[in-house]
Amino acid sequence: MGKGTPSRRGGKIVHIRCRRCGSHSFHRQHEVCSSCGFGDTARRRSYSWAKLKR
Ligand SMILES: [Zn+2]
Repeated sequence: MGKGTPSRRGGKIVHIRCRRCGSHSFHRQHEVCSSCGFGDTARRRSYSWAKLKR
């Protein structure tokens, strides 16, 4: 990275592998998966706008 936008997350691991959905979206500190909502909601996180692929 040169000048301009500095790269954030300096080597710190933020997300780990979620043991519910298997995605690398489980937040270590918040203990919430940003993909399936594991740790936040009992039901699987899903939004209608999330799966829309065009
Ligand atoms: Zn998950």
